[in-house]
Amino acid sequence: MTKKIIILGAAESGVGAALLAKQQGYDVFVSDGGIIKEEYKNELLQHEIAFEEGQHSETVILTATEVVKSPGIPNKSDLVQKIKANKIPVISEIEFAYRYKGNSTIVAITGSNGKTTTTSILFHICNTAQLDVAVCGNIGYSFAKQIALAPKAYYIIEVSSFQLDDIVSFKPDIAILTNITEDHLDRYDYQFINYIHAKFNITKNLNPADAFVYCLDDEVTMKYFNTYTINSTNYPISMNKETKTGAFIKDGKMIIAHGTERMEMNVNDFTVKGKHNQYNTMAASLSASLLGIRKDKIREAVTTFESIEHRLEPVAFVRGVEYINDSKATNINSTWYALESMNKPTILILGGVDKGNDYGVLMDMVKEKVKAIICLGLDNRKIHEAFGNTVELIVNTQNMSEAVKAAYHFGVSGDAVLLSPACASFDLFKNYEDRGIQFKQNVKNL
Ligand code: ADP
Repeated sequence: MTKKIIILGAAESGVGAALLAKQQGYDVFVSDGGIIKEEYKNELLQHEIAFEEGQHSETVILTATEVVKSPGIPNKSDLVQKIKANKIPVISEIEFAYRYKGNSTIVAITGSNGKTTTTSILFHICNTAQLDVAVCGNIGYSFAKQIALAPKAYYIIEVSSFQLDDIVSFKPDIAILTNITEDHLDRYDYQFINYIHAKFNITKNLNPADAFVYCLDDEVTMKYFNTYTINSTNYPISMNKETKTGAFIKDGKMIIAHGTERMEMNVNDFTVKGKHNQYNTMAASLSASLLGIRKDKIREAVTTFESIEHRLEPVAFVRGVEYINDSKATNINSTWYALESMNKPTILILGGVDKGNDYGVLMDMVKEKVKAIICLGLDNRKIHEAFGNTVELIVNTQNMSEAVKAAYHFGVSGDAVLLSPACASFDLFKNYEDRGIQFKQNVKNL
């Protein structure tokens, strides 16, 4: 009998899983409780995959042999609970895709911050070395769609904690955990530990032939490291400690060491700036080296990597003032690292929808570097409370045009204007991309 697979959610990962399932001969049905985007609907139609939208037909769903759940759907939703109560296995899209990976090599990257950057740097190194490689997961195609449409020898996959919640046998050859800070607690019963479990799930199936790259300087990672059974060969990265194997930075040099391999590189040669990007570059370069990529290719790649949109992205100089777009900074930790990388008096555009921010964490950085704060959000009270006594100039704005004008007004040659909001954007913008694009547009109009 053909196995009946039901896919919940019809966005990138759900549609990817549907395409792959169809290709593998399953009986497939896709169910989305909301309205499916046009592009995804067309893909389903084109591949003759049955679907519904605006509802979940339980009677149909409960006839599944297996359910693939998109990462956007919480495990605690009534529907998922009911499916589980009916003893129907629920897996994530990466778990499903993993079955069809063939003998490809997988690098999976997770963490609270730095996933996309680390993934993109590693992908650039692999491309520079001319591997048959794809980047997927949260960037580009979903893993399943990549396998269905364009299988490769190497996959560099960015994975979220939600994707890792429902894995059974998913096992990368190299797993990277960048760091762990509080995020998405609403999906984890407001228990930080549950989110930590999800992140460490990336190590669950590793064996000694696999590598685990993690940050020795990350407090949370190190606090919980020994509470998990991790069977891989482990490679720490650090800026504070010299490690025998792994990677570290000392006296402005990045050193990578494993087995008989050793490489050194000047961190000033990295194209991406800031301490956080040194961590990301270390993790990516070390992993590339573990994949067997030659030093000269790694060196070439990290000196040619172009910064990615909305992440400390240089926009323009206007009358001697530099404008930087870090719209992707949607939590305090990201903004801390953005400020850390600034070496000019900074006018900071901050605010939006705050997920429970403790602005105190930014205090030292703000004292040292920030000359003015431009609040950009509907409710800016917490920012005023936090910095009212520290920063002389704090103003409220409610759209990007006002914010950029205010920044222009405060700036003198030699300053920088940094959009690094530490907040989500949906009070005033569609998403962080929209916020970043509007910023760039307004800067260009100056
Ligand atoms: P993610 O994909 O995990 O959201 P990104 O690579 O897109 O992370 O970076 C998002 C923001 O997080 C950046 O704008 C930067 O300010 C901050 N960031 C990037 N890398 C790190 C890191 N290793 N540690 C802490 N913060 C980081």
